[in-house]
Amino acid sequence: MKALNHCKGCAGNITVSDEPVIYYSDPELDLPEVVKDELYQRRLEICKRCPSLQYGTTCMYSGAIVSHRAKLIEKSCPYPGSPKW
Ligand code: SF4
Repeated sequence: MKALNHCKGCAGNITVSDEPVIYYSDPELDLPEVVKDELYQRRLEICKRCPSLQYGTTCMYSGAIVSHRAKLIEKSCPYPGSPKW
């Protein structure tokens, strides 16, 4: 039986690459600040085990691709009442 998907951001026919997301911080380019790799991997591991992860890629609460959101310092887990990271 196919699992129900509740993502508010996209439909189930969206495919996202498994390639790692690479960001660079450069104060001169006004790019978003990113977390160090160790914290990034820890966040992704939490998301992988979370029942709110849809399609293996997308957080059903934010609609964000977690491999992107987890990289940004200013972001946090939007799990209601108890953020997981
Ligand atoms: S609720 Fe938090 S831990 Fe779960 S998928 Fe979304 S960002 Fe990841």
